[in-house]
Amino acid sequence: MRESAGVSKDLSGHRAVFLDRDGVINENVYYERWGEFEGPLRPEDVVILPGVFDAMRRFSDAGFLLFIVSNQGAFAKGKVSLKSLAETARHVDSLIAGAGLKVAEAYYSFSHPKGVAPFFSGESLERKPNPYFLKLAEAFYDLDLASSWMIGDRATDVMCGRAAGCRTARIVNDSNEISPSDPAPDIIADSLREAADGILVKG
Ligand SMILES: [Mg+2]
Repeated sequence: MRESAGVSKDLSGHRAVFLDRDGVINENVYYERWGEFEGPLRPEDVVILPGVFDAMRRFSDAGFLLFIVSNQGAFAKGKVSLKSLAETARHVDSLIAGAGLKVAEAYYSFSHPKGVAPFFSGESLERKPNPYFLKLAEAFYDLDLASSWMIGDRATDVMCGRAAGCRTARIVNDSNEISPSDPAPDIIADSLREAADGILVKG
């Protein structure tokens, strides 16, 4: 039997799951000082959400490469040092590695459009909802974005995934809610665990 000229399914790009971090992997933290939820600003504020590592393991076992794509605007906004955000990111990395899981890349944007910190403030190409990091991962890891997923807890995560041509899942929890004007995700779930249930059925 002759091979077809096209690339076979087995040889096409890898599938990926792009995970927003705050509100998906770890809890958003309510900081009284600003009266709002933020991603954790210090390593000791990191609380991994229930069932997250098990869900990540199920994605890996199903052949998805795992990526983290996270906006961390707190330094740009003058709330915390960049070093503290770096230490927090490292801490999350170490918890994930400690669970025996492999994340191909953790991509962070530390800029913010309304920031005050020099060099980190103003419009940026890489910050979600722009699909910059997903397109970067596509090139470096030979991904098939159409069979990949972006999972996040904000409308900007859904916009980012859609812009890259991925399917999308949105986590809805105590620290956020969906407004009628938000783009519709393919899946709405209350946790990464529930999102994984839906995604692994759809493939
Ligand atoms: Mg988030």
